[in-house]
Amino acid sequence: MTGQNGYAGNILKIDLSSASIARVPTSEYADLFLGGRGIAAKIYWDEVPPKIDASDPENRLIFMTGPLCGVPGFASRFQICGKSMGTNQFSFCNLGGSWGANLKWAGYDGVVVSGRADKPVYISIDGDEVEIKDASHFASKSAFQREKIIKDDLGDSVRVLTVGPAGDNMVSFATFLASDDSVGSGRLAGVMGSKNLRAIAVKGDRKLKVAHPDRLSRLRGEIRKLSTGYVEPLLALGMLTPRDRLKKSFCQGCPAGCVRSTYKKPDGGERKFMCEAAMFYETRAKRYSGNTEAAIKATELCDDLGLDTRSVETMIMWLSRCHKAGILTDEGTGIPLSQIGSYEFIETLLKKIAGREGFGDVLAGGTHKAAQSLGQEAQSLIKDYIVKTGENALYGPRLYITTAIFWAMEPRLPIQNLHEVSVPVMLWHLWLMGMKDAPANTEVLRKMARRFFGSELAVDYSTYEGKARAAAMIQDREYAKESLILCDLFWPVYFSESSPDGVGDPSMESQICAAVTGREVDEAGLYKIGERNFNLQRAILVREGHRGREFDTIDEYNFTTPLKGDFGNEDCLVPGKDGELYSRKDAVLDREQFEKMKGEFYGIRGWDVPSGLQKRAKLGELGLNEVARTLEKEGLLR
Ligand code: SF4
Repeated sequence: MTGQNGYAGNILKIDLSSASIARVPTSEYADLFLGGRGIAAKIYWDEVPPKIDASDPENRLIFMTGPLCGVPGFASRFQICGKSMGTNQFSFCNLGGSWGANLKWAGYDGVVVSGRADKPVYISIDGDEVEIKDASHFASKSAFQREKIIKDDLGDSVRVLTVGPAGDNMVSFATFLASDDSVGSGRLAGVMGSKNLRAIAVKGDRKLKVAHPDRLSRLRGEIRKLSTGYVEPLLALGMLTPRDRLKKSFCQGCPAGCVRSTYKKPDGGERKFMCEAAMFYETRAKRYSGNTEAAIKATELCDDLGLDTRSVETMIMWLSRCHKAGILTDEGTGIPLSQIGSYEFIETLLKKIAGREGFGDVLAGGTHKAAQSLGQEAQSLIKDYIVKTGENALYGPRLYITTAIFWAMEPRLPIQNLHEVSVPVMLWHLWLMGMKDAPANTEVLRKMARRFFGSELAVDYSTYEGKARAAAMIQDREYAKESLILCDLFWPVYFSESSPDGVGDPSMESQICAAVTGREVDEAGLYKIGERNFNLQRAILVREGHRGREFDTIDEYNFTTPLKGDFGNEDCLVPGKDGELYSRKDAVLDREQFEKMKGEFYGIRGWDVPSGLQKRAKLGELGLNEVARTLEKEGLLR
């Protein structure tokens, strides 16, 4: 680590069982793992016993920023990692807002929480003053109310990360809420409940140093000229309304912004409006009442109670099918299933789940567990809208092929990886549909693929060739990005109006890293860090029971149920051979080709091809010798 540039310098370690507070230098981790997901994964590897349950006090909740968080002109995103309530495996989520920047300004790059308090508590971090405080008065309060109580107590400048009743009650798909309306899932928020931890409040005003202010200032200028240019057109395909009530609202320090907005509530307050969370109940609400009011309130209620909209959305699909099949009734569940689309339905459903009340207790473990408890017929109604973690089946491999690798090897919905494959194709599709200003025609898309994904074959969706290479390149870039941390809605910049060939510059992230930290890393060097962090996560998952090839699976429907359409692309149009138009409508994934693609991927990764397990030489090359020794002792290395 080069000095303190970009880093606050310390990571807080707080054990709630013994009420002990310690500080360790970030430099113990930063050289190899950089920040964010990388450092969090290393702490997890060192400290979380692989066989414990997620609710065990030995589990850790690791809140980790990266070197860019809190640096003016860069979004203040941070990661939360730990063992997930839903799967008992390592998991992660990424949040924005302003909490992460304030943690850095308080003097800390991260907070690691272990143990379990004997009564509800919250942590207050105000520079050098770190306290574990009583939170008994939070009982029955919602997430927004908790934030307000803490602000009333500690002042308006404090930033709060909290959970709602769903987190307290260890609902498997509970969420975090951080100041300025940022939400994270990853099935980790229930761990807060298991630790009797209700919130973490941060306040600070220390300045962060950067290594090369002049270089950074030039880069900021270049970034301001860039535009994602795609978020709005893409979302215009969806149903975001009502636009006249929206006002742009960026995360702290974000130079670019996106569709992230706030809207005025009828009672005068403001709430965030963004992406999937804003749309999850919209179609049903419109169909039921002709307007979207219930959908807007549903998103707010999910945030307030602390429930993941992705999991609630898929659960509603399943509940609707169970109701139609006569498996579930209004009377039997105490939930008005005959009124799906109404506010009465969604309010009753969410409150029962968050409070684990009646049938809500059955649903609190997630759709798959609830279906298991109801029997075979209910299980058969889980179809191709839902993945094994209960989240929605987004950007699936029947259309995009490459994404099969991600779905097979990640412990949760890997949205950053999926976006790298899907967003360029969706932009190309906008061009195909005649959208003026769409940045990617076929020629530019293919040039971009050569630069970002290793070959033009990566965007020929008539073949499985070139996909394994693209998947590995995407992972390396994304794991580096999640360690820096840069926002998924802006980076990477695939296309650029100002470049001669229309293709963006993937070296920009490494230039930013160098300017902030003083570490003279180039594009390849940054990807090497990404590769290390991906391999570390793979080792964690293998040690926790994910044994390689036979566990690298995807949901069965991908091989058996023909694709009927995709978001905004009913005919499943994609580029094919030499850029010719190709349709994947009615396609399934070929099982043999999938296995072959996995083998190719293991080879590119330097892993053992038959087993999909890592090799000593590769882990050694990445500086993960201690990880290799541990895996070897357990017979998990080849
Ligand atoms: S692009 Fe949007 S989500 Fe990303 S940091 Fe900026 S405002 Fe936040």
